[in-house]
Amino acid sequence: MRGVSLAVMLLFGSGFALAGEPETFLGFRLLDLENQSVKWQSPRMGESATVSYAFATQATATLGARNCASMLPPDKAYAPSHISRGQFAREVAAAFRMWEQVANITFREIGNADAADILIGAQGKPVGRAFTNVELKPAGADGRKVIARSLICLNPRQRWKIGFDGDLDVYDLRYTIAHEIGHAIGLDHPSAAGQLMSYRYDERQRGLQAGDIKGAALLYGSKPGAPRFAGSGITTGATGAPAVKGATGWPFGIGESGEKAAPDR
Ligand SMILES: [Zn+2]
Repeated sequence: MRGVSLAVMLLFGSGFALAGEPETFLGFRLLDLENQSVKWQSPRMGESATVSYAFATQATATLGARNCASMLPPDKAYAPSHISRGQFAREVAAAFRMWEQVANITFREIGNADAADILIGAQGKPVGRAFTNVELKPAGADGRKVIARSLICLNPRQRWKIGFDGDLDVYDLRYTIAHEIGHAIGLDHPSAAGQLMSYRYDERQRGLQAGDIKGAALLYGSKPGAPRFAGSGITTGATGAPAVKGATGWPFGIGESGEKAAPDR
């Protein structure tokens, strides 16, 4: 696509969110693509962004995309689970709102799938549960690259649900999409569990956790009135351990190639 740099990969480096603090688990990890963190619009940390999203309305191929290269309208994923279009749209809107409420990033739905910053659909080639592809723009004058487009795709062969019921084999749409939006705006997996951006699906928390909020606020600025967390407020240990190199299970994945990608459950 027009010489656009395309990059999404799993990163298992040992670095944490902020260089120079390797021993501190902050509860979030920034995506590191082409050796830089990435965000929408301005590369400057803490600067706000407005991002559009749309649902795929036809089969869409994105040349060179590592994930979601082939997408279909999202009903291919949710309709078999007896979820209606209206229900799906509500869950997606709620997922975007979760991030809007904590950081200076605004999302608006548009009808034009080709023009949308974030495109949501079903996978043309089913794999895993859900994936995000993050494509970067060519570097600006300052050498920094910002996000050009993100794709979020759901596996149409998996069952989906609305709400938690304790069955961890069927993923809740709002939770899953909120997690993928996190990737789509510049966040990686910080850990196995404990945050919404953690890579294991569980139903212990519904919304964004302290680390998720800190990560989004670092990228886009914190929303006035949003919950704030002191630096020491992030738990570590069983529910917040740093990501382990080669850790098992990337059920959401933002990439799935390489020997470190675990098989899907
Ligand atoms: Zn993920």
